Amino acid sequence: MLERYSRQILFDGIGEAGQRRLLASRAIIIGCGALGTAQAEALARAGVGHLRIVDRDFVEASNLQRQTMFTESDARERLPKSVACANHLALINSEVEADAIVADVNHSNIEGLIKDCDVVLDGTDNFSTRYLINDACVKHEINWIYGAAVGSYGVTMTVRPHTTPCLRCIFEDMPPAASAPTCDTAGVIIPIISIVAAMQVAEALKLLTGQFEKLHGSLMQFDVWNNEWRRIKLDSPVPECKTCGLRVFETLEADAVDFAAVLCGRDAVQVSPGRATRVDLNSLAERLRAAGEVHLNPYLVRLRAGPYELTIFEDARAIIRGTDDVPTARSLYAKYVGN
Ligand SMILES: [Zn+2]
Repeated sequence: MLERYSRQILFDGIGEAGQRRLLASRAIIIGCGALGTAQAEALARAGVGHLRIVDRDFVEASNLQRQTMFTESDARERLPKSVACANHLALINSEVEADAIVADVNHSNIEGLIKDCDVVLDGTDNFSTRYLINDACVKHEINWIYGAAVGSYGVTMTVRPHTTPCLRCIFEDMPPAASAPTCDTAGVIIPIISIVAAMQVAEALKLLTGQFEKLHGSLMQFDVWNNEWRRIKLDSPVPECKTCGLRVFETLEADAVDFAAVLCGRDAVQVSPGRATRVDLNSLAERLRAAGEVHLNPYLVRLRAGPYELTIFEDARAIIRGTDDVPTARSLYAKYVGN
């Protein structure tokens, strides 16, 4: 059924052979927020046959201004972002197989998530996950497309391991925590999202159809408010780069005992158990009813208790709002979820 793709097949760069390649391709989108939803919609409409969408969070009203796939009803139901996204993709293109994964991407799962994929699209909002993606993609020789947007500024770069510089070739060290503006501190407007996501999608289509000579080969920067567009041509990979030169993948080797993390500027902390486990959400909801107002859906339980709001997912992860203090969050987790 190539009819629905007729305008894309007419386009010289893709053609029927390219379309068949897209239909047989598998892309993973890590982080399903503003960039991720825009990427997912475009790739599904373009007929990329298999999409894996991973996100740890749920839809909130403040997402709707820029996260174009989500609706008010997704926010009311507090659906996990990956699930809400896959639901909408099924209506947009039922031929596409969309695999929604509600999880925190970290060293314990990233290699399994990306291994069978042809391309990885960055839809995250933080550098630690990007360095993790970079390590995993270089290790497994999978192309990935970096993208970020904050305020009216955005940046993107395509990494082909050992052919182009990797993220660490360009930015040797991760910027220190809280050193850069984030969408939670500086806001973000939708046009910069559209531009960065569009560039990432164009690069993904070139990669998936094997047209490497069409890749832009640069670090692209845009500012839609101050009208600045910059393109810094990329050189070769840096031979002494820790990741692609020396093949030391330190983010994949992190200690698995404990990954509680402060979420950037949202007055929220995520607490994860040290080992994989499953929570029976129905019985947890029953238990929590005595403690405060409880909301249950098939993917999560939310408890409002005093100034705090705990959202607990099936994988035993919790996002605790109302604090940015890790010990407080841990003690709330121990109190209500247990460990
Ligand atoms: Zn490198």
